[in-house]
Amino acid sequence: MNQIHQKHTQLIIIGSGPAGYTAAIYAARSNINTILLTGLQPGGQLVKTNEIENWPGDYNNISGSTLMDRMLHHVKQFSIDIIQDTIESVNFKNNPFELNGQENYYYSDAVIIATGSYTKLLNISSENLYMGKGISTCAICDGFFYKNQFIAVVGGGNSAIEETIYLSNIVKKIYLIHRRNQFRADKILINRLYQTIEKNKNIIIHFDSTIEDIIGDKLKIQKIKIYSKKNDKISYLDISGLFIAIGHTPNSKIFSKYIDIQDNYVKISCNHQTIKTQTNIPGIFAAGDVSDQIYKQAITAAASGCMAAIDAEKYLNNYLK
Ligand code: FAD
Ligand code: NAP
Repeated sequence: MNQIHQKHTQLIIIGSGPAGYTAAIYAARSNINTILLTGLQPGGQLVKTNEIENWPGDYNNISGSTLMDRMLHHVKQFSIDIIQDTIESVNFKNNPFELNGQENYYYSDAVIIATGSYTKLLNISSENLYMGKGISTCAICDGFFYKNQFIAVVGGGNSAIEETIYLSNIVKKIYLIHRRNQFRADKILINRLYQTIEKNKNIIIHFDSTIEDIIGDKLKIQKIKIYSKKNDKISYLDISGLFIAIGHTPNSKIFSKYIDIQDNYVKISCNHQTIKTQTNIPGIFAAGDVSDQIYKQAITAAASGCMAAIDAEKYLNNYLK
């Protein structure tokens, strides 16, 4: 074990997305001694997007990183211990709960799991080989590297459509590949996609199509093989970049030995009438995308972070004694 410190606190919040930061604000205002662990992605998934239109009150093109920076500054107004650490394993058998981070070992009377989710991949054998060598899961982070080049985006949800619109102003040509013939994304984004196609004339949609292989010279991608269900035809597209935007998987694996998980999502509201964010273990709560199979929005993550902090406060004051 290479941990340097052992820390004991009343509440540990794992995650620094909208759920984690909101939980921290509410916990601090209840005078709960709290540590917030940021994980590898301070600010969470929203830092990957350059325009948020549905955060109430911010109607003027706020970027994801600006919004998350503002949440961080809000948390910093209170005496919350914010630590850049990633939890690798937990022991939730007894209270205080034990959390084993890369930097420290933690003991806590209550825990809020707000670990969000990570990007799903296609499960094609060459995918790992070309990750970072042409394959990306973040247009904002990597789009600029493909200036004036041919690229593809795969997916049909809000992320794929937003990334396509964003990349359309940077790259030469985009193939948007979706496995069905209807997008899942919000209507407003679909309309904007068609307006962008009209304006930039550099987006070609391949409906009913799947990526069968990613081909390159081992150093970078050169083409993808796609199968069209509609025509029962294989074709090849020459590209230097592939942006994967096919959804997310909850970060729940490290808790699965102790916590009830369903389809990778942490199960909440277990056996309790008035505490809605509690897991099957009293004192362990979950908030945000890690426990939300349906909504997966910044506002719902933040709202459930608030609920988890209120529930944790009830637990610490009433049930733990
Ligand atoms: P996340 O934001 O995923 O944060 C999870 C946090 O947990 C991260 O800080 C991570 O570092 C940390 N973590 C994970 N594992 C560990 C660990 N083991 N130890 C410690 N920390 C850990 N929603 C909207 O409402 N509007 C939008 O415009 C919008 N745009 C989006 C654009 C993109 C490209 C994407 C991908 C998503 C978008 N969403 C949007 C969805 C929104 O980002 C999520 O619903 C929201 O971020 C979920 O918040 P969260 O706090 O649950 O988790
Ligand atoms: P998503 O909504 O789950 O969409 C994933 C898309 O990828 C779907 O179109 C799906 O196809 C496709 N897909 C899934 N697995 C695939 C596979 N193995 N191969 C090929 N295609 C596959 O994911 P998301 O777009 O990342 O969005 C996640 C959440 O964040 C959503 O709740 C979304 O609303 C939110 N978000 C919001 C905004 C915004 O408000 N502006 C922006 C981005 C994200 P099917 O349609 O056939 O299932």
